[in-house]
Amino acid sequence: MTLTPTRRHFLAGASALALAGPAAARTVADRITRVEPVAARHVTLKPSPFADAAAANRRYLLSLDPERLLHNFYRSAGLPAPAPIYGGWEAAGIAGHSLGHWLSACSLVIADTGDREIAAKLDHALAEMARIQAAHGDGYLGGTTVERDGKIVDGKIVFEEVRRGDIRTGGFDLNGGWVPVYTWHKVHAGLIDAHGLAGNARAQPILVGLAGYFGGIVEGLADDQVQQILRAEHGGINEAYADTFAITGDPRWLRLAERLRHKAVLDPLTEQQDKLAGLHANTQIPKVIGLARLHELTGDAAHATAARFFHTTVTQHHSYAIGGNSDREHFGQPDQLANALAETTCEACNSYNMLKLTRHLYGWQPDASLFDYYERVQLNHMLAHQRPDTGMFVYFMPMAAGGRRSYSTPEESFWCCVGSGMESHAKHADSIYWQSADTLYVNLYIPSQLDLPDLGWKLALDTRYPMEGQIALTVEKAPRRSSELALRIPAWADGATLDLDGKSLPVVPVQGYARLKRRWKAGEHLTLTLPMQLRTEAIPGDASTLAFLSGPLVLAADLGPADRPFEGVGPALVAAGAPVRAARPIVGAQHHYSIANPLGGETTLKPFFPLYDRRTAVYLKHFTQERWADARDAYVADATARAELARRTIDIFYLGEMQPERDHAFASSKSEAVQLNGRSGRKLLAGQSMRFRLARDPAATILRITYWGADIDRVAKIQADGEPVATERRTGPAAPGFVTVDYPLPAGGTAAEIAFHAEKGETLVYEARTLRP
Ligand SMILES: [Zn+2]
Repeated sequence: MTLTPTRRHFLAGASALALAGPAAARTVADRITRVEPVAARHVTLKPSPFADAAAANRRYLLSLDPERLLHNFYRSAGLPAPAPIYGGWEAAGIAGHSLGHWLSACSLVIADTGDREIAAKLDHALAEMARIQAAHGDGYLGGTTVERDGKIVDGKIVFEEVRRGDIRTGGFDLNGGWVPVYTWHKVHAGLIDAHGLAGNARAQPILVGLAGYFGGIVEGLADDQVQQILRAEHGGINEAYADTFAITGDPRWLRLAERLRHKAVLDPLTEQQDKLAGLHANTQIPKVIGLARLHELTGDAAHATAARFFHTTVTQHHSYAIGGNSDREHFGQPDQLANALAETTCEACNSYNMLKLTRHLYGWQPDASLFDYYERVQLNHMLAHQRPDTGMFVYFMPMAAGGRRSYSTPEESFWCCVGSGMESHAKHADSIYWQSADTLYVNLYIPSQLDLPDLGWKLALDTRYPMEGQIALTVEKAPRRSSELALRIPAWADGATLDLDGKSLPVVPVQGYARLKRRWKAGEHLTLTLPMQLRTEAIPGDASTLAFLSGPLVLAADLGPADRPFEGVGPALVAAGAPVRAARPIVGAQHHYSIANPLGGETTLKPFFPLYDRRTAVYLKHFTQERWADARDAYVADATARAELARRTIDIFYLGEMQPERDHAFASSKSEAVQLNGRSGRKLLAGQSMRFRLARDPAATILRITYWGADIDRVAKIQADGEPVATERRTGPAAPGFVTVDYPLPAGGTAAEIAFHAEKGETLVYEARTLRP
């Protein structure tokens, strides 16, 4: 790397932080980082769906009042709060997580466009944060709350209990507080971005004070106590300390980053073992980003091994066609996705974090396949996740046939995916171009203007991609010496062509790039053409469950308007030869195809991301003619049974999962959240009990409980609203897989409190559901 220190100082993104830090960290980072993203301030988005997303997002950022996001922070410090708290998750114990994302998102916008209105709002928020922190006097700066003796109190109490070594967690909470360290990390990360991306001088003293408060707690604890804290979701707290080290050069923060390493999850990854099944997905990804950052700062190769292994494992064995992962926020068994096509797939935060991790990996080794993945997610998940007309966000992106998107509201949602969404749509300009000392990489074909005076490049990128495959690059200013342009040729683009001022150039991709090294001249015009053929892609682990893609676009069957229920059977595909040949292009509509539905009528495939208000199916089950004759009845029966179960279901509760447990008022005398057989559940030992609330009909209702078939000869008493329902005592032989047992509930109200008391052996419960008879 031979970049000048001055220019380095301005580089946005992870590596910029190292550059502001100590010489040692800088040297290591330089050795490891081979390419860097061109800072967004050198890139201007031209009209495109990405520019629309960024504009809608900016309007949303401006609509939010930082004083409302800080409501609990003022109160925690004993200061009058000038404005009321927002609703949704902001009022549910984790106030601060949205503030943190908002700080980061505003900083991204400022780093991109220099937006003065946003900068003024960010500056006011930081000034108030400094005032609040000063009122605490010990570095504390938080808005979380917790319940104590039936009352909601300031969540600082949790941190002070932990400082004294009083650490309790049922797997998700910390001393009864809902993910306080996760929330703490968001604020810390927001301040880091306000410093590094927005360049606001107020941020650094606040973030150092914050780092010192929680750091002081951790430093007073033994290693096993720290691991106990890390059992609860804690975001990328290790990354925040690594970045704080990079900013300040103080080795204290590096020591903390290394101590805040969650061994139970990161040790197997370092050993290159996939033990992700049953784990909460988005809890894990930021820990790995933290490792990637530590690798850049320390050169520790084991961290890079873990990060690369995790990325490959998730993208190849746990991800759907749109690049998202997880069902009900959890990883399942590798290559077992065909059975997990649900309404609750692909949490948006996971993709936000996977893209962050991808940028680190790419910086170490500029392999175009990493940007094939990045583009897949950005186009097919991120653009689907935000409505460009309102700027509102989707939490889960349904892969279920007939699934639809549910959007946040401006002031009553504030889910995690709203927070990460604010960031995702503030950074569309930050990964298009990357640079090394002598090469300019074009990784994303997003219409934009590049002006990079340090390297001497000025380029215009014009295209209607992804709707069309032609990309025009006009050289407006070129470096004086011979320079290399590297254009990503996506792996799907068979027969890509390239011409320079009408003269055809050979396309021989090296690591996925067409590399053109020459003396460039202003006025030269390059045209890259990426033919967008239709193709199918099997879901990991099942060759007969297919998604259709056209170029970079994932297609989906359009199953009607979202505001009408979908009661049909998901579309199937019967084709003798290659499934693509069963799809006929619809004339006049780009990327639209028609397929005969063997159950009658036609299925229309369209690009998935803009189907904001439609019911969709990304995956189609493929049958040959012969197999369809045998399988038709079973396919229809299976689909009908699933639709019937959905119709009868009043409420479902997945035990051992954080959000469902909160939603169902789960409580236990003592119990353990477990991940067994690829699912989450709760384990009670003999003598232990648990209870939770389920919605029901006042008329007779069935309680359906899911157990593991081999868990026999155990005894548990089940009650509803204090009345006995059944004594569960399954005897052998052991049944394969999961089993369900139905218990009739007598007539009651609109909700029931269900209690389990384990009497003999371990009782493991995975799912509880109420059904109409
Ligand atoms: Zn989320």
